[in-house]
Amino acid sequence: MAIDFKPYAAVNNHWGDKMPLMACEEMAELIQAISKFERGKDNKQDIITEMADVWISCCALANRYDISEAEVGEAIWKKMDRRY
Ligand SMILES: [Mg+2]
Repeated sequence: MAIDFKPYAAVNNHWGDKMPLMACEEMAELIQAISKFERGKDNKQDIITEMADVWISCCALANRYDISEAEVGEAIWKKMDRRY
């Protein structure tokens, strides 16, 4: 799966210096959605929405910190091979 992080510059342009904080907030929102689901709330759509926000945030962070898709991919598969 090749991901081009360049379009996510728009997210950084929108949030500016606050973008990393926004990413942290999105991650917290996903944590909250998962927690509610696991406590019995029927909120699968919230999880999907928050996953999308976190996904976008991660791609924007990669763009911001000049991290390539290959670097992230290598880290993912290194962990996958080691742990699973
Ligand atoms: Mg969100």
